[in-house]
Amino acid sequence: MEVHVVLLLFGPPGCGKGTQSPLLRDRLGIPAISTGDMLRRESEKHSDTGKTIDCLLAAGCLVPNEMVNHLLEARLAEPDCRDGFLIDGYPRTVEQASHLHQILEGLDLAAPTLVHMDVPDSVLISRLSARWNCRSCGAIYNLLSKPPLRDGFCDIDNEPLWQRNDDTVETAHCRLDAYKAVTDPVLGFYKLGGTGNVIHVNAHQSPDAVFEEIKAALETEVFSPVRLRT
Ligand code: ADP
Repeated sequence: MEVHVVLLLFGPPGCGKGTQSPLLRDRLGIPAISTGDMLRRESEKHSDTGKTIDCLLAAGCLVPNEMVNHLLEARLAEPDCRDGFLIDGYPRTVEQASHLHQILEGLDLAAPTLVHMDVPDSVLISRLSARWNCRSCGAIYNLLSKPPLRDGFCDIDNEPLWQRNDDTVETAHCRLDAYKAVTDPVLGFYKLGGTGNVIHVNAHQSPDAVFEEIKAALETEVFSPVRLRT
């Protein structure tokens, strides 16, 4: 029997969603979708929408629900999502959570498993301002905990690293405020509404340790719809 897996990586900016996402993608054999990456691509387009998104991202504000819902819905309709997927960065509002619920019903997919990655605020701000990325392969570095071997260049493909323009201390505070005000309540939607499973992991550990904790939680009988490749 085929098992559909819908995983939602959930937690504040800097909790490590973007680091765990490719690890889980490879382990589960499902596509990993990042609404942040999708929006950054849109923001590079010279359209009015692209410019609006660019301003919102730079200020650390959330992009309006309708724009993100529309982008995500189109992505989830692609054939590679038929057997499930994992999403990093969505839903970020209760309205988005209820929209996703409708999409999943429409696609006849299972209720999602939400992986809540918990990290203290003080750690998040220092993680965000030390984060550097490789635009071509997507690798994420952190000058404090995982610096590249060669200063300013990716270990994997040697491309120059770049820093997101929302990874400044000031913008990181705005993003954390937005998280607390409108994203945190999404947990209640899943816990109280009974529309999915919620697992909590301590994300204030090394990336390997966090991955092991997520794997262990997904392997338990309680979450039997999720099956990891051995
Ligand atoms: P992080 O989780 O580290 O903040 P992301 O790449 O997930 O990074 O998101 C970057 C920015 O993209 C957010 O600050 C927000 O402006 C926008 N964004 C991403 N996902 C959503 C979403 N689901 N709804 C609204 N805005 C979003």
